[in-house]
Amino acid sequence: MAEETIFSKIIRKEIPADVLYQDELVTAFRDINPRAPVHILVVPNKLIPTTNDVDTDDELALGRMITVAKKLAADEGIAEDGYRLIMNCNQHGGQEVYHIHMHLVGGRALGPMVVG
Ligand code: 5GP
Repeated sequence: MAEETIFSKIIRKEIPADVLYQDELVTAFRDINPRAPVHILVVPNKLIPTTNDVDTDDELALGRMITVAKKLAADEGIAEDGYRLIMNCNQHGGQEVYHIHMHLVGGRALGPMVVG
């Protein structure tokens, strides 16, 4: 059984966060340390530690993460200019919180994708 992270507490509203969206599968909230004018995290409500742990049973939630990111990008007014969706995995991917999450980052030109 994977160990819960702070994100499970945010999903259950046990600790404060700027939650923008929640349904039965996913929750979206603003990143506490934004790297761009818009920086939102979209997470499955179910604890999945890394993208290595996803299963075919998770495909609905994973698809929902993208449709919610798309909606939030439109809500934030960055859809037309564009944005980046990022999922980090494990140490080399720079993952800090072991509950998978998609970063929705935008609001300025992000430049070429940085690898390293
Ligand atoms: P990772 O490096 O795992 O892909 O990204 C984790 C993200 O979670 C970081 O951007 C970090 O700022 C954010 N984060 C960590 N703890 C909290 C928290 O308690 N609340 C919120 N809203 N974001 C958090």
